[in-house]
Amino acid sequence: MNIGLRQKHIVADESEVAASGYLAIDLAALQRNYERIAAQAAPARAAAVVKANAYGLGALQISRALLTQGCRDFFVAEFVEAMELHADLPGATLYVLNGLQPGNEVMCAQANIVPVANSLEQLKRWHATAVKLGRKLPVILQFDTGMSRLGIPPEDRPEAKALAAESESLDLLYVMSHLASADDNESDQNPAQLVEMQQVSEEFSGMSVCFANSGGVFLGTQYHADLVRPGIALYGGAPTGGRQNPMEPVVKLDVAVVQTRTVPPGAAIGYSSSFIAASQMRLATLAIGYADGLPRSLSNRGAFYHGGVRLPIVGRVSMDSTIVDVSALAPDALQLGSLVEVIGQHQTIDDIASAADTISYEILTRLGTRYRRTYC
Ligand SMILES: *Cc1c(COP(=O)(O)O)cnc(C)c1O
Repeated sequence: MNIGLRQKHIVADESEVAASGYLAIDLAALQRNYERIAAQAAPARAAAVVKANAYGLGALQISRALLTQGCRDFFVAEFVEAMELHADLPGATLYVLNGLQPGNEVMCAQANIVPVANSLEQLKRWHATAVKLGRKLPVILQFDTGMSRLGIPPEDRPEAKALAAESESLDLLYVMSHLASADDNESDQNPAQLVEMQQVSEEFSGMSVCFANSGGVFLGTQYHADLVRPGIALYGGAPTGGRQNPMEPVVKLDVAVVQTRTVPPGAAIGYSSSFIAASQMRLATLAIGYADGLPRSLSNRGAFYHGGVRLPIVGRVSMDSTIVDVSALAPDALQLGSLVEVIGQHQTIDDIASAADTISYEILTRLGTRYRRTYC
C-alpha cells in the first residue's frame, strides 16, 4: 500500500511517512504455528487455509512463508482467490472450498486448480468438463455431515458414489467434511459428525479423508484423518474456546494518537454524546475507526493499552477515530504521534473479539487497509 503517496509527483519513500497505524505480521511466528500444527496432526499432512486474503493478513506473503515451511496444500474459498495465487506457489496445490461457479470449469482445469464439489451439480459439471477436455481432473468431494452449509447431502451420496465409480475422468483426491463446533471440545456435535464422516469414508472406501479445521486438530487424533485444514490457529487465534491458546500471536497493531485533551465534568464525548464525563478526564483521540475494521460494538466497552495500562474506549467508535480515557497514565505519557496498542502483548485477537462480541476471525478479516503493514 502506498497510502498518501499515490500521486505521481509526490516522491517519498513510504517508510519515511509517519503512518496512522502500524500492523506487524510475524511470519516466523506463523511458520512456528504451522510446525506446531503439523507436529500435532502427524502422520496426517497439514494444509493451510488462506481464504479471504489469508484471514486479512496477505494471502501471497502468508502462503509463501508456509510454502517455505513445507506446506503444499492451500485452501481458498473462491476461484478468483485461487487464480490470484496459483502462479506464485510452485509445487503447491490450490483447492477451492466453495467449488466452482458455472462457467469457471475450463479455466479451473487449465490452471490445475482443484475444486471442492459440494453438490451433485458441481460434481457433474466438473465431470462433464473432464470429458470435454479429454483429461482426468482432480476433485475433492465434500459431504454435509451435519452443518447444512456446503456439501453433498446424505440422500445424494449413492448417486455421487455411482458417478465417482464409473467415471474414468475424475481423480478423487479426498472426501471431506467440515466440523460445525470444533472450537468447543465438549460439543456432542463433534463425535456425531465424526461418526458420519467415518460412514462416508466407508462408502467411498480407499479414498483419503480431509476433515479437521484448527479446532479439529486439537480434538484428538481420531479427527486428523489424512489432511488437516487449519486457518485461524496459524494466525494465532485460539483453536479451542475456554482453553489456553497453544498458538503464538502473529499480529500486532499499534495506532497513533491524533489529539489529546482534558475535559471538565459533564463533557459530552463522541457522536450522540453516548458518554458524559462524570469528572475531569484526560482523553486521547486515536487514528482508528470502524473504517479500519474496529468493530463499532466496542463503543463504550473495549479498551486499548499503553505501557500495560488499560485505556477504556469512551463514546462511540467513529469512522476514522476512537477516543480513549487516558486518565490512568501520567499526564505527559501520550503526545501527538504516540502509539497505543490495539492488538499485542496486552490484548490478543481473541480478547478484542470477545470485548466486541465477535470472533477472532472477524477481527482479522476486517483489518483495514490504512495501516502500514510490515512483515517480519
Ligand atoms: C474456513 C474453513 C476452514 C478453516 O477453519 P479454521 O477454523 O479457521 O481453522 C477449514 N475448512 C473449511 C471448509 C472452512 O470453510
